[in-house]
Amino acid sequence: MNQPTDQHHQPRVGFVSLGCPKALVDSERILTQLKTEGYEIAPDYQGSDLVIVNTCGFIDQAKAESLESIGEALREHGRVIVTGCMGAEPEQITSVHPKVLAVTGPQRYEDVMAAVHQHLPAPKIEHNPYIDLVPPQGIRLTPRHYAYLKISEGCNHRCSFCIIPSMRGDLVSRPAGSIMQEAEQLARAGVQELLVISQDTSAYGVDLKYRMDFWNGTPIKSRLLELCQALGSLGVWVRLHYVYPYPHVDNIIPLMQQGLILPYLDIPFQHASPSILRAMKRPAHAEDTLARIAEWRRICPDIAIRSTFIVGFPGETEADFEGLLDWMSAAQLDRVGCFTYSAVEGAAANELADAVPEEVKVERYERFMEHAQMISEQKLQKRIGQSMQVLIDELDLEAGVAIARSRYDAPEIDGNVFIEDAPVAQLRAGQKVWVRITDADSYDLYAHLQQEP
Ligand code: SF4
Repeated sequence: MNQPTDQHHQPRVGFVSLGCPKALVDSERILTQLKTEGYEIAPDYQGSDLVIVNTCGFIDQAKAESLESIGEALREHGRVIVTGCMGAEPEQITSVHPKVLAVTGPQRYEDVMAAVHQHLPAPKIEHNPYIDLVPPQGIRLTPRHYAYLKISEGCNHRCSFCIIPSMRGDLVSRPAGSIMQEAEQLARAGVQELLVISQDTSAYGVDLKYRMDFWNGTPIKSRLLELCQALGSLGVWVRLHYVYPYPHVDNIIPLMQQGLILPYLDIPFQHASPSILRAMKRPAHAEDTLARIAEWRRICPDIAIRSTFIVGFPGETEADFEGLLDWMSAAQLDRVGCFTYSAVEGAAANELADAVPEEVKVERYERFMEHAQMISEQKLQKRIGQSMQVLIDELDLEAGVAIARSRYDAPEIDGNVFIEDAPVAQLRAGQKVWVRITDADSYDLYAHLQQEP
């Protein structure tokens, strides 16, 4: 029997996926979550610390095949978690294979992950709010109507507060054909919104020299513009995260104006002071970001821009900080997150002089958030009276409220549109409906259902 991982490598999970396209999507979502949490996916039994078998229980033959696969995984490896359709009736499995570590049912992503955590703890990567691709609370795996689409791993930059490149290495982009295949499968399985993630989305394909790939027999370049065009053809919402403000991003904005992809850019600006950006070694630190933003708004006036910032970085003076507030007033970003700087073990920034005292960091954080909130409030007020299409995330049956999002808001990190007095029994999560905005507060909108205009 293989033993759990030692200290020398990331915990590795082997995966056997059986069954129909829906089961495949379940497998992909479990794999995405595993990778997001820092597990490695092993290509064979020998290289894994644990094996997950996603079973199919559709017909007797499929059940027999599933039981056979579980038996093989137990023989070849020994540490096996079973999930998928057959897991709906665990005794069918445990009566034949009593040694499996856990059995969870179909679409029970959280249960599978809980079983994995129990038998193979996640690698100890501290959550780093500046750079993590998913929110600290993790991906809510339950909704089937949106999915994260990872287009590359690693990063070629060396931001001084970040240890991602030393952990995950340089940029490795996925060929466009493989991304499109995954995106197409997700869309076919009912996903309504694809959230494109990577450490540096603007750099997609650089390592591949924008190589030509194929998707359904059609040539496609592994470059952001072509990838966005192809994703835009799937008929689902496509949202870009972690884009850096390089000039070539200007080419993507017309796709937003045409409605091919969402008019939304998540750009981790982190600061506005040139000296702090230089000390942070940020990509595109020399760009005139206000000019870039103005250009994007000229091409697509409707664009929503979200960003995160770090205050209290070593060497940040009061003038740097006030410059950041002025930049915020000029940039008029739609959604903003902020963190006080804290050292990450192994990061180059730890060596920088002039640490900012903790109480100053907190005071700047509060001033920053107050400023950002005021901008957000003013911007949301302007939405009152507008009609817009929203995507329902959840239904609160008791309150009669549908909790939805507009094109301008990503799940988990941005605001909501609360549809009041909604006929919740007739609505479902993942449905797109039209609403008229009736009210707004600092971060959320309130609306009533409306006929499609
Ligand atoms: S761009 Fe900077 S912060 Fe982001 S992953 Fe690369 S090195 Fe880290």
